[in-house]
Amino acid sequence: MKTYQVDKNGYYGEFGGAYVPEILHQCVKDLQNAYLEVLDSESFKAEYDQLLRDYVGRPSPLYLAKRLSKKYGCKIYLKREDLNHTGAHKINNTIGQILLARRMGKTRIIAETGAGQHGVATATVCALMDMECIVYMGKTDVERQHANVQKMEMLGATVIPVTSGNMTLKDATNEAIRDWCCHPSDTYYIIGSTVGPHPYPDMVARLQSVISEEIRKQLQEKEGRNYPDYLIACVGGGSNAAGTIYHHIDDKRVKIVLAEAGGKGIHSGMSAATIQLGKKGIIHGARTLVMQSEDGQIEEPYSISAGLDYPGIGPIHANLSVSRRAKILAVDDDEALKAAFELTELEGIIPALESAHALGALPKVDFKKEDIVVLTVSGRGDKDMETYINYKNN
Ligand SMILES: *Cc1c(COP(=O)(O)O)cnc(C)c1O
Repeated sequence: MKTYQVDKNGYYGEFGGAYVPEILHQCVKDLQNAYLEVLDSESFKAEYDQLLRDYVGRPSPLYLAKRLSKKYGCKIYLKREDLNHTGAHKINNTIGQILLARRMGKTRIIAETGAGQHGVATATVCALMDMECIVYMGKTDVERQHANVQKMEMLGATVIPVTSGNMTLKDATNEAIRDWCCHPSDTYYIIGSTVGPHPYPDMVARLQSVISEEIRKQLQEKEGRNYPDYLIACVGGGSNAAGTIYHHIDDKRVKIVLAEAGGKGIHSGMSAATIQLGKKGIIHGARTLVMQSEDGQIEEPYSISAGLDYPGIGPIHANLSVSRRAKILAVDDDEALKAAFELTELEGIIPALESAHALGALPKVDFKKEDIVVLTVSGRGDKDMETYINYKNN
């Protein structure tokens, strides 16, 4: 049977691997050797499941959106990751990784963040577990995402503004890797998506796979079958999408639709449609598709949604795309904004701008009346109110 899971060398087809500086080889190897055993252990599972239930509020509901369904002529269920503690799916991952860090005897946590959402999710679990937390964030992002910086600081984290390069996510990531090189023995690096060197993409996908595990159970209860006809999710680095499809990835009855950020249009020069525009290259320790110039310089991506403007993509998703297992759609800023207002009007749910890209894929798919569609609402829209209000006023 064809599988889209990671192979023993850390690759998904030709994508993935672990391209890290010499000084981190041992560190990454230790992690590769530890993660499966820890994640599969009874003590980890018990603690992880209990925190997901009592702290995060899982299982998240699978909600039949009747008015939205009527509009698109099929049966649409929303997987409500927006209802999680801290407002998105990211907490599923940070809880898992901090439990792993403790079991590996690490005492210091570092993370990088762009929009600040992963920084907040990391600072949250560090407060919970009483661990030191250092978050690298581009200075430009520190200025434009001030509310999240304040949250991280209130949670006890140290936020370090990064002033190299464009002072955004890519530069923050470089700085986090530099820190890790200086403190390989006591420091654990919590990566926020299905990116980075092996084993991160596989580990983050496994930690987020609670989403598809729940979808299976919930569909069985509601529909009498445990698989949908379509799964739809947005992709930044790819973690909520990987979690949504994890248990259905080898099931050909399930069509996978992934929405990446088209920005102002994929040929406008202002886009974050990495899968469609990217070329093969190495970013953050993995071989994948990368937005880059002719001579291999990483290009700054653009999207109205801060959580989707990442110049790479998870190796899982690069492989799903080239093997044509998943259909990749670019959803532009305007299409996402329109979709956010549509969901709010029809269902009384204000989605995160990232999630609005998944919703923006709905008009681009030809559904049949009997199709069962599960779309993951990765987060809530509180953080995006300013953007929504500006759009309405223009
Ligand atoms: C960070 C974020 C994303 C994008 O990250 P993935 O790893 O691609 O899931 C999507 N939605 C929300 C709400 C986010 O905060």
